[in-house]
Amino acid sequence: MPERRLAALDSFRCIADRCPANCCTAPWNISIDDATLEKWRALDDATVREGLLGAIDEAPCRVTGHSYSMHRDAAGRCVQLAANGLCTIHDRFGPELLPEVCRQFPRSRIDGYGEVLQTGSLACPEMARLVLFENVDAPAFRRSGSGAASMLPTLGQVQVSEYLAQLLDQVMANERTALSVELAYLSQVLGEMAQAAASGALSESFFEHRLRGCKQALYDLNLQAKRGKLRPTAELGGAFWAAAYKLAPDLLQAQGNEGAEAGALLAAMKQATVTGPGRAAARMALHERVLAVRQGLRPAIQRFDKALRRYVEVEFAFLGFPRRPFADNYIASFLHAALSFAVVQLFLWLRALNADGLEQSDVVDAVYMTERRLGHSLNILDAAEDNADLLHVERYYGCWSEVF
Ligand code: SF4
Repeated sequence: MPERRLAALDSFRCIADRCPANCCTAPWNISIDDATLEKWRALDDATVREGLLGAIDEAPCRVTGHSYSMHRDAAGRCVQLAANGLCTIHDRFGPELLPEVCRQFPRSRIDGYGEVLQTGSLACPEMARLVLFENVDAPAFRRSGSGAASMLPTLGQVQVSEYLAQLLDQVMANERTALSVELAYLSQVLGEMAQAAASGALSESFFEHRLRGCKQALYDLNLQAKRGKLRPTAELGGAFWAAAYKLAPDLLQAQGNEGAEAGALLAAMKQATVTGPGRAAARMALHERVLAVRQGLRPAIQRFDKALRRYVEVEFAFLGFPRRPFADNYIASFLHAALSFAVVQLFLWLRALNADGLEQSDVVDAVYMTERRLGHSLNILDAAEDNADLLHVERYYGCWSEVF
């Protein structure tokens, strides 16, 4: 079986008490897998058994499907986290009795269709730092193994994930094209793919044609973007940024509005999420502000082009695009990664507007905090279920040209 392994896994070491945001204090459910629960229930020592079972909550998790999670105190810390920053379970019993997620985090193994992926969660600040800023000239993933891809999902008769994986490789290898244009291109292809599948016209030749024409299509789109011809309408552009803001308003508001420009951007985003007669005007006003902010901050953000490319590449893999699409939905899986990237951009804009320039640490913060907010949640999928228009990515593909 072919395998892809995130290179950063080799040098990752948990930095524990030096970690700026210990994972045991993050505002997420720490799910307990069934095998661990069974181990705890089977313990002979009643004090240990009841100590462990007494510190869990019944909390069904839609992401993992597990029914229990670790109890957290009023401040949101896992109750097994001791004052010295170490895990009580690990300290007393070793890794054997830890829930699977605690044993593995931030490492992750995904058995995708036709591939084993060993990757890492960028919700860990140290993993994010390594992925974004260490050995950036080497490939983010190493490939090994071979063998026939098996059990590939199909749309009609077409093995879609294999073709999309080849297309994604071509797109991401093309560093001469702006990342924003690459996202626009991918959303265009996905939209066309969905339309072809709905009308029963999806065939191998659909992808073969695009694989052959990928370089030229990217070149053409890049040219359009440079000439300002890839832009969405002002209302659509504003709606796009309002949708990105709505995914993590608390995270973005927390970046502060000390600067007048940051305050105005936050206010415009909030205003554009309202419903009613003023919405179209608010969206257009937001779009105008976004373009002005983007123009002013491009040099500051473009310094981190390589890091942000790494983010998108690793995020696609982590979220199963296209090898194991979230809920078997290629477009929702793409949107999850790409909209997270849009939130990272808003975060960085707000940071930059509130300070003099951006540092590496700001980029690491933007990535791990966005991942904690969105990486393990279903809210992008929920948003797509509530508003099926979101899945028509071909209608707003030009919006991606305004990301970075
Ligand atoms: S978030 Fe990462 S570095 Fe921080 S405590 Fe958890 S595993 Fe260690």
